[in-house]
Amino acid sequence: MRERFRATLIGCAIGDTLGMPVEGWKKSQIKKYAGRITEPIDPIVLRDVDGNLVKQDESGKLGYYSEGLKRGEWTDDTILTLALAESIVAIGGLDLEDIAQRQLAEYRSRLLPDGAVFGGFGSTTTKAFKNLDKGVSYLESAPEDGGPGNAPAMKMAPVGLFMYMRKAPRAGLKFAGQVGEITHRDPRSIVSGIVQAHAVYHLLLGAPREDFNYSQLEACSWHEKPTTKNYPHADKGSLASRLEWIWKNPDASVGEAFARLGNNSLVFRSYPFALFMFQKYWDNPVEGLLETVNWGGDCDTTGAIYGALCGAKNGMVFPQSWLGTLQGKERLTEAADGIFKLKENEN
Ligand SMILES: [Mg+2]
Repeated sequence: MRERFRATLIGCAIGDTLGMPVEGWKKSQIKKYAGRITEPIDPIVLRDVDGNLVKQDESGKLGYYSEGLKRGEWTDDTILTLALAESIVAIGGLDLEDIAQRQLAEYRSRLLPDGAVFGGFGSTTTKAFKNLDKGVSYLESAPEDGGPGNAPAMKMAPVGLFMYMRKAPRAGLKFAGQVGEITHRDPRSIVSGIVQAHAVYHLLLGAPREDFNYSQLEACSWHEKPTTKNYPHADKGSLASRLEWIWKNPDASVGEAFARLGNNSLVFRSYPFALFMFQKYWDNPVEGLLETVNWGGDCDTTGAIYGALCGAKNGMVFPQSWLGTLQGKERLTEAADGIFKLKENEN
């Protein structure tokens, strides 16, 4: 079980670093410029004959969110996951103010002189951190004009570890919602964090595939508040409707799932896509992780979400060569061990 705790946080970082070099790219663009991602690599930077960045090709936009990073380094997904895990260890429990401040400290430490931030932080999260930085309370820091981002899902795995250690699923799920609310307001974003914490907890308990899919849908339906028309993309519907599709179509082809769900950074696309892939490749998790990343979209985040679930279910199944290139393993291991040492009934 200790190994599975470690593999949950390390899996998040592994998935993050696999997708990092090609974040936001389409499947066809990854194929064209990288062939196939099969291990952690340096970011791919495309330049034209004049040395200018190629920001567009016939398939669409080409973003460079990971400029300056190196093979094996990771982005906001793991940065914020680790901040959350280290808060749980330092406090010996759950403390929203401490989590908000630790996340803010990670953000501040990556601010560049031109006001940009290093590490690929999402726009809604960035606005929330700017509010926290101005002294706004964590209860009010989530921006009014924020979108349905996937940050709550990508960083919530440590809460699932805590729920397992303390045998406190109800308190943990409630807390996962509150952590999401530090940065986001959209009900689909908030519930994605709750569902991810639940997923990690349920996998540690040894859930079989069918129970997993149903239980994810149930956790989502139970906790998802209605999305009113004030929210951006409100017309795109609920997260639960996507998880219901997965529950009803667990063996659909990846192409069908992609057509139905999509995988960009909107939470109702990338989060269900990562969950679909995870349950589809239940017995072949490492291949599934590579496949998830190679489908592109917000693939550092779908990778991070998948990787955390993969570690919680399977332990350290990641190839040694990947682990050899991964940065920050000691800090991730220490945080996982710290949560593992938490005893029941404290705090
Ligand atoms: Mg990222």
